[in-house]
Amino acid sequence: MIYPIPDHLKPYFVPVGEENSELRVNGALRCGCGCALFVPYVNEAGTIAAAKCRDCGTKILLLHAGRHGWDGFVAKADYLYDLPTKMHPVDACPCCEKRTPLAVKMTITSYGKEDFIRDSELTDESGKKLREDDWVNAFSSFRMDVACPECGQTSESVVDIETA
Ligand SMILES: [Zn+2]
Ligand SMILES: [Zn+2]
Repeated sequence: MIYPIPDHLKPYFVPVGEENSELRVNGALRCGCGCALFVPYVNEAGTIAAAKCRDCGTKILLLHAGRHGWDGFVAKADYLYDLPTKMHPVDACPCCEKRTPLAVKMTITSYGKEDFIRDSELTDESGKKLREDDWVNAFSSFRMDVACPECGQTSESVVDIETA
């Protein structure tokens, strides 16, 4: 089974649970250094998300709606060119409000590989050729939840965006 994990997340995305398929994958973020706690960053519009590793400081881009997902990667939707890029740290738990690094969970949905090949005809809106394997980059939604190591609560949908 192949999951809709976009290329830019493949080194960091660890699938979690039994419900994953070509159409939907749940996972957790893990840095190359092995650490699973981060300071997430989100822009005000909820269209860009990143995370900075607590241990080694590596910054990982999680989502840029202007580049990733069907609208950004294939359709090159005009409104996405002008994303506000000022990023705000999520440096406290939304539940207990303690200042702490957080675990990052993601859910990505897709219409699947066949659908991508048929609808894109393997060319993006600007005329650039796409590979069949690019279907993972044309996902249809992205959700980010954060889990707090202090109170154990998960705050859902810190980012929740339709990308198709
Ligand atoms: Zn790290
Ligand atoms: Zn908490």
